[in-house]
Amino acid sequence: MNREVRVRFAPSPTGALHIGGVRTALYNYLFARKMGGKMLLRIEDTDQNRFVEFAEKYIQEALAWVGIKLDESPWQEGPNAPYRQSERKPMYMQYAMQLVNEGKAYYAFDTSEELDEMRKRMEAAKVVSPAYNSITRVQMKNSLTLPEDEVKVKLAAGEPYVIRIKVPRKEEIRFHDLIRGWVMVHSSTLDDKVLMKSDGMPTYHLANIVDDHLMNISHVIRGEEWLPSAPLHILLYKYLGWEDSMPEFAHLPLLLKPDGNGKLSKRDADMHGFPVFPLEWKGENGDMVRGFREDGYLPEAMVNFLAMLGWNPGTNQELFTMDELIKEFSLEKISKSGAKFDINKAKWFNQQYLKQMPDEVLGEKLLQGLKTRNIECSSDKASKIAHLLKERVVFDNELAQEAIFFFEAPQVFSEEAVKTKWSTDTEFVAKNLLEKISKLSSFSAAEVKAIAHEIIEEKGLKLGKVMPGVRMILTGATSGPDLMEIIEVLGKEEVISRLKNGIEKLSASLVN
Ligand code: GLU
Repeated sequence: MNREVRVRFAPSPTGALHIGGVRTALYNYLFARKMGGKMLLRIEDTDQNRFVEFAEKYIQEALAWVGIKLDESPWQEGPNAPYRQSERKPMYMQYAMQLVNEGKAYYAFDTSEELDEMRKRMEAAKVVSPAYNSITRVQMKNSLTLPEDEVKVKLAAGEPYVIRIKVPRKEEIRFHDLIRGWVMVHSSTLDDKVLMKSDGMPTYHLANIVDDHLMNISHVIRGEEWLPSAPLHILLYKYLGWEDSMPEFAHLPLLLKPDGNGKLSKRDADMHGFPVFPLEWKGENGDMVRGFREDGYLPEAMVNFLAMLGWNPGTNQELFTMDELIKEFSLEKISKSGAKFDINKAKWFNQQYLKQMPDEVLGEKLLQGLKTRNIECSSDKASKIAHLLKERVVFDNELAQEAIFFFEAPQVFSEEAVKTKWSTDTEFVAKNLLEKISKLSSFSAAEVKAIAHEIIEEKGLKLGKVMPGVRMILTGATSGPDLMEIIEVLGKEEVISRLKNGIEKLSASLVN
């Protein structure tokens, strides 16, 4: 019973890895680490028609980006190498043959036209989902219906064939899913799936089971879309005599559209303006598909967000580092129902992680943004600005835009703002500030603050009434981060110049 925990992430390299795939990988990783087990990655590339060249590299980069570390994979040496199914091709045939020899699978020689005809016949007979199964196989061209000699001749002549599993006609297939509980399926609902294709490649089903067995996988944690395949997989384990070492299954809940109505798709994401892929992806026709990374999401935020999509710790805690997730994670706390993909939640997480980043690091990000706008700034000043702005942005790539007012004095003021925020009292405060600041020999937020309070109190004014106008002429906006801190960063000369300029421009608005 004390089996070593070994899980696997087994993507097919058919395009950009969907964010749901990243969540599956993450849950595998958290579970493996929590249990002191191992996680491996296997590339399931048996479908040569759907193979996409750059997909494997993309998977590797996406997992590295979110910080998933693999114990075994095609990109390192490992005891179960090779980890690409295409490179394991010679291993599968013997298992298919074992099944054929034991009467649990059979050769089928039907051409695609013959398969089409069968489907049409079934449709004409009002069969809802026509399939190659225990009922139809007796009418088809296979080693169950053809005389043994004829089968031998066909095989010897190299006629194309596939190997199909022989699903029993009446059998209840039961298995226990760690998330959904007992699942029961009647074998009459399954079809005789192809196990070996005519090109000598196994199908996903056979390769997946053989590899999970050979790689000693203890738990299969995968998306709910694979639940319908699970009964067939259970049957395969049974047929191959591997029932005792069969992995346990956990099928993860679906990721749903933001309104909860159906499965999350790229179309919904495009419609709502958010990505569904971890990294940018350049499609075959050259279109760029956006990625969370390029949109400015931090990997830590992504991990936290994805972890909470379908799992919860059972407490109110929302912020978790990877290590904390590993400590808290359990399959029992994964929900059965689908998880709504709420992009605002993803943004919220991003903001939380961004706020925690050191000012120097954000300052560097800000500098990069300023550089593209040809604005020069010292590292020290950039850190100070980042410190003031980090509560106000969701993504670090918004910092530069938000910081523009530090480098460009406001030129125009909105009529509405002037009307509501500029008064003779405000002008009085601004003028006095200008005068007193000019006389200062040193210049700091605390000093200017003391001066401002003095002026305001002496005249019996209210801070909240007069300061927004002063802020307006200094920054162009009537609200924002701590004004005194802004003043300190702007520096004495700049503050003097902006005050002068503002007073001059707005004094006309007070006439009459
Ligand atoms: N190759 C399958 C996929 O692309 C793996 C499914 C499984 O984990 O069994 O998702």
